[in-house]
Amino acid sequence: MLADYLIRHEPYYHPVGDEVALFAAACAARLPMILKGPTGCGKTRFLEHMAWRLRRPLVTIACHEDMSAPDLVGRWLLDAGGTVWHDGPLTRAVRHGALCYLDEVVEARSDTLVAIHPLTDARRMLPLERSGEVVPAHPDFLLVVSYNPGYQALQKDLKESTKQRFGALAFTYPEPDAEAAIVAHESGVDEICARRLVRVGAASRALVAEGLTEGASTRMLIHAGRLIAGGIGFASACALAVATPLTDDPALRDALAAAVAAQV
Ligand code: ADP
Repeated sequence: MLADYLIRHEPYYHPVGDEVALFAAACAARLPMILKGPTGCGKTRFLEHMAWRLRRPLVTIACHEDMSAPDLVGRWLLDAGGTVWHDGPLTRAVRHGALCYLDEVVEARSDTLVAIHPLTDARRMLPLERSGEVVPAHPDFLLVVSYNPGYQALQKDLKESTKQRFGALAFTYPEPDAEAAIVAHESGVDEICARRLVRVGAASRALVAEGLTEGASTRMLIHAGRLIAGGIGFASACALAVATPLTDDPALRDALAAAVAAQV
């Protein structure tokens, strides 16, 4: 039924610890999971890989503050034959046994998130208030949410009553050898260049102590690598893909440029 959501080819994922075995165990125990960590450090890729490994469809929902409960669970819509019920993405995942990924979950309003509570405790069911139906979760259904505990946690946090329903895996940037292998694989640059990019990343992360909101993600380093693989010089690629998007502060921009220059 959710064949379109099945991942047919193995997504490349470089493990950084025992997260593959732990997630598989959580999945077998039907324990809903939080993937915590800074943006661009591999949470989504990890879940794509796990969905492929566990042969489960993956339904991804990007959370935002205007998202309402009907956007998740579904609504009545008018068509030629009258009003018909349309399942939302969460309900489809619940019915058909998918992994349902709520990306950046703290962006959703807490009144919207209450809809997931009956799915995350022993009941494992989804009451559809507007249609009166109660949908029992398929045995293979699992809820997974992602959350950036860094700068976001200052303004927004998950409610305790939501948080305590989940297990969690903490992600961070991969250690240098692993990050260089990932950057080389994903961007096409050679290993020497990937290592230089990883050192720029490390320097940017050290600048968080100087006021940078977040350091360069693995994703950013891959973007720079792709530009380099396409023929752009190292410094220009780092300026375009890393330093300029990261900050508007001239002093921090200069510090990033110096970190790049040290690698040229
Ligand atoms: P997040 O969901 O944490 O914001 P992503 O999973 O989208 O980040 O990661 C960004 C990119 O970084 C991915 O598209 C992938 O190319 C790469 N990446 C990061 N970590 C890994 C990893 N451990 N293995 C393979 N690729 C990775």
